[in-house]
Amino acid sequence: MDMTLNFRKTKIIATIGPSILSTDKVLEKALEAGVDIFRINFSHGTYEEHKNAIEKIRFFSKHLNVHVGILGDISGPKFRIEGVNETKNFYPGDKVSIYLGQNKGVKGYWANIKDFNKTINVGDAIIIGDGDLFLKISSIKGNKIEAIAVSKGAISSKKGITIQHYSPKGSILSEKDKKDIEFAVNNGVDYIAMSFVRNSSDVEGVRKFVSSMSKDIPIISKIETELAINNLEDIIDKSDGVMVARGDLGIEVPIQTLPIIQKKIIRIANSYGVPVITATQMLKSMTDSPLPSRAEVTDVVNAVLDGSDAVMLSDETTIGQYPVEAIKMLSDLVIEAEKNLNSDLFIKNNIQYLSDDIENIISRTVVETSKNISARAIFTPTSSGKTARYISRFRPDAPIIGITRHLLTYRKLHLLWGVKPLLVDKDYDNILTEMINHIKENFDVYGFREGDNVVITCGYPVHGLPTNLMFVHKVQKDNKNVKNT
Ligand code: PEP
Repeated sequence: MDMTLNFRKTKIIATIGPSILSTDKVLEKALEAGVDIFRINFSHGTYEEHKNAIEKIRFFSKHLNVHVGILGDISGPKFRIEGVNETKNFYPGDKVSIYLGQNKGVKGYWANIKDFNKTINVGDAIIIGDGDLFLKISSIKGNKIEAIAVSKGAISSKKGITIQHYSPKGSILSEKDKKDIEFAVNNGVDYIAMSFVRNSSDVEGVRKFVSSMSKDIPIISKIETELAINNLEDIIDKSDGVMVARGDLGIEVPIQTLPIIQKKIIRIANSYGVPVITATQMLKSMTDSPLPSRAEVTDVVNAVLDGSDAVMLSDETTIGQYPVEAIKMLSDLVIEAEKNLNSDLFIKNNIQYLSDDIENIISRTVVETSKNISARAIFTPTSSGKTARYISRFRPDAPIIGITRHLLTYRKLHLLWGVKPLLVDKDYDNILTEMINHIKENFDVYGFREGDNVVITCGYPVHGLPTNLMFVHKVQKDNKNVKNT
């Protein structure tokens, strides 16, 4: 695996689909273009297709000697229109009736939405598909909703339906979701992303279900409902990562509020040191054009400047005509953005949230020191990943090498901005000496030059203590001449 220190720091997630899988060459090129994580969207496709995709990703990443993670995106409570098979067009002012609950054979539009009393109101918006048609509720009588079309668009069977302010009660996991998670876990998926989480209990519920299969897999909460926005800090606190899922979020909240909500999610996630993915329509026009729009390139760069750890492609790589070009473009854009990140600003912005716990103090000092001495790298042995998270959120210039023995931590580190994870097969007993040896032994692998400065963090004495020590080391190839400052 390439361990040189000159790597892109913002992580790229690409959704897998027919475009990327069209030929093995395209998948290889996507890997070479630097995808860090592939997303499997369980809202589409069969288990056979997912299995095939996972096998191909594993085969070609091994062949190219690159590490790539796989994220299983679980659909959660998404409702669909049923009861009428033919597609019908509607125009502004047209009336539409929709029945809520289980269809017991009455002809008309049905959506299997329960417990909606008191949660939806006259005046609330209904969105069909991803915004194919907008309706406004004009009356609610029992389980029958009357709505007026406010845009032109079509309703067809199985289209998604979103009702503003409606949120299902009870467990977030449907039977299908549970089967999808089981499939994902049994097929070695590295991350589970959960759609439509409402609060921290939903996150805990998913974690409990995954743990019941004796697997430690990071849980990423997709923020895409108003309720989730109201419970943002709790959700972030309980999650291993969050996603600004702008597709559904842009339906659930007034669209003009979306940019500020995105900034808020990123800011709070940064302050908790929880990785945040900005997703959906990042380079949408590249679905059928080899070049993005001016607005899209600005959006991507701003997402990185605001503090996104990762950016994600959806249609661009699933059904797009230019999947590899979109990945390369995203990579070029985030690299450009990274040149303009300033750790002083990230420290200043997060300072108000800093508690006086030791990792907090050390991580800030590490970033400031690494800047002052122009460190070539920061070496952070970590068991939970906490120190690496805390250092990463200040966006240091120096790359962070996160070294761990734990697979769960390794997976978490892979999602963090600026962190290259390294999985080792033992705990260190004498971390400093062993780190210095590791650096010396891998002098050429990392591409060091004689006299380079590095910063090493560790807990001293080892075992049981959090990171409490920062050590500045001058790298030299010959161990006999190792000088410490
Ligand atoms: C989104 O809504 O932005 C999202 C990422 O989820 P999905 O692609 O499953 O709609």
